[in-house]
Amino acid sequence: MRIVMMAIGDELLRGETREGNGQALAAQLQKRHLQLQEVRLVGDDLAQIAATIASVRAQPTWLIVSGGLGPTDDDFTRQALATSLGLGLGRDQACVAAITERFNRLGRKMDPCNLRQADLPQGAEAVTNDHGTAPGFFLQDKQLVITCLPGVPREFRAMLDDHLDAWLDRLHLASAPRKETTFRLVGLPESTMQGLLSLLPHYACAKMRSLPTWPQIRLELSALTSDADFAALCAEVRQALGPYIFSQDREESFAAAVLRALRAIDATLAVAESCSGGLIGHLLTEVPRASHTLLLDAVTYANSAKIQLLSVQPELLASHGAVSEPVALAMARGAKDLAQSRVAIATSGVAGPDGGSAEKPVGTVCIALVSDGHERVETLHFKGLTRDRFKVLVAYTALDWLRQWARSVVP
Ligand code: ATP
Ligand code: MG
Repeated sequence: MRIVMMAIGDELLRGETREGNGQALAAQLQKRHLQLQEVRLVGDDLAQIAATIASVRAQPTWLIVSGGLGPTDDDFTRQALATSLGLGLGRDQACVAAITERFNRLGRKMDPCNLRQADLPQGAEAVTNDHGTAPGFFLQDKQLVITCLPGVPREFRAMLDDHLDAWLDRLHLASAPRKETTFRLVGLPESTMQGLLSLLPHYACAKMRSLPTWPQIRLELSALTSDADFAALCAEVRQALGPYIFSQDREESFAAAVLRALRAIDATLAVAESCSGGLIGHLLTEVPRASHTLLLDAVTYANSAKIQLLSVQPELLASHGAVSEPVALAMARGAKDLAQSRVAIATSGVAGPDGGSAEKPVGTVCIALVSDGHERVETLHFKGLTRDRFKVLVAYTALDWLRQWARSVVP
């Protein structure tokens, strides 16, 4: 069943009032894992209202209508809906009593035109309004269900609070909760992710939303399918994209996921940074309790610092240069020894915009990871990045190496 909102009021189309009832309804539905399909803005105009009714009734639809339930001549939603559906309008005595009681209670004089608000299309059920004079109503005509509420935003919202769950129960919309899951990924472009997802046997059963926040991707999958189909899809995603997924349904940063992986194997970490300038340490120390894992972050920018703090051999620097695999390895080994950590990572690269050479162009970076009995060192080329994006990519890559290493270690 589609859920559609029709907001009625000339003022909405004149730009005098910003439509807000559709937004309030959408938010309430979203909280319940339901989706508002459409909001139609319609003037106080019988032909427009009738045309909207005619177009939505072709499919099973729940139409929520707001506005035009007041007592004045320009409020004729009741009449327009009745006419559009070929129904008469009748005065509902319970509504008359409720409106009269409200005026008495508030000590206000009631004008006869207030009783127009007790007029309902034939077969409609009144919906009590504890927040204003005009009752709403609920009306079913074959596959079209109409719920009509006052336009005053305060009343509209309060009536949603009062009645929405009961309506959803009645329309059996609450019984099909949407299944949702959120994966967070690093290390692959969105287009590659889309290509891999499209091949999955259960991909078609879900709706995907990809929110790239470079260099991470947030992949949301949602579906109204069975538990089994959704579980199958999630398993396929983990299988196909496993190495890139750093978390599922956790509100955590990438650095937090890396620390979680290291903590899972009880590993301590030392970092030696050159071109990333402390960014790895910064990302890690954003995470509460990083001190359980991170023992040292040495930003050794000058050769002298690499020599003095990390015991890098001057001959290595002289023969290979600071941006080289032997120096990156020596930095990681030096940091590991200095901190007495279980694992260490080091970066040394050319962030640019100048300082590159034919052999080591801007964007070159050497990353080394050292643990007992395991060493990994590689030269990577991150071309065409600004200095700050280069640093971010170096830091993320180094952190991802740590995550991969931690996953490969048996605790
Ligand atoms: P009333 O008894 O006040 O006439 P009503 O149900 O007839 O109530 P409207 O006359 O359509 O409602 O609107 C009442 C007030 O609520 C107006 O100020 C109008 O601008 C505002 N309003 C109506 N519809 C919306 C909407 N969809 N979003 C935001 N404000 C709205
Ligand atoms: Mg009005």
